[in-house]
Amino acid sequence: MSRLLLIFIGAPGSGKGTQSDLLAEKLAWPVISTGELLRWHLHHQTDLGKQAKKYMDAGKLVPDKVVEDLVAHRLAKPDTKHGVIFDGFPRDAKQLAKLLTWLKKNDQLYIIEIKVPDKEIINRLVGRRVCDCGASYHLVYKPSRKAGICDLCGKALYLREDDRPKVIRDRLKAYKNTAKPLLTYGAENAKLLAFDGKQPIKVIKAEIWQAIKKLLK
Ligand code: AMP
Repeated sequence: MSRLLLIFIGAPGSGKGTQSDLLAEKLAWPVISTGELLRWHLHHQTDLGKQAKKYMDAGKLVPDKVVEDLVAHRLAKPDTKHGVIFDGFPRDAKQLAKLLTWLKKNDQLYIIEIKVPDKEIINRLVGRRVCDCGASYHLVYKPSRKAGICDLCGKALYLREDDRPKVIRDRLKAYKNTAKPLLTYGAENAKLLAFDGKQPIKVIKAEIWQAIKKLLK
């Protein structure tokens, strides 16, 4: 049986995290989110977290070696045997090349692109509020029940350092540069599935599921 490796790409705030979680839940596959893995290390102030902090606070990419070691370690776990969903990795041509060297004979790799215009991205991100427990809210689109407090764990919500407007613009620029080789790879190898990320979450979810169902046959 082949193993599917699905790489979600989209600008920060495009909803790729939401969609990858929804698909993972449906398939009971793990999500490898490099942003989440790195934030765990940041929060727990590990050596790796201290190393990554200055890059993440500035909206810059963390060095490849740090991220690749995290992913390789996670990908080696047995729960990845049917399929894996990547969120935030690979971010550029070098990381993609590295991932391709890890593929086994029956692995199939697809790029899933969530497309959202820049203006909408900026609106979405400045309103985002997150909690250390992993929960994510939006002041307008998905408010917590009590303002500033996490519904799940009761802790205070905060604006991520990298969701400030100046940093967002840098992140969008970085995204465009780094997504290009992934989109090219997907298009040239007929491995690219693109979705309109402006649509409601449920609609995008259904469209992605229709496409993935065909790959599972
Ligand atoms: P994300 O949650 O995917 O928006 O990632 C948050 C931050 O983590 C990014 O702005 C980067 O600093 C870092 N990061 C996440 N994934 C990667 C990656 N694949 N390569 C380098 N840095 C990453």
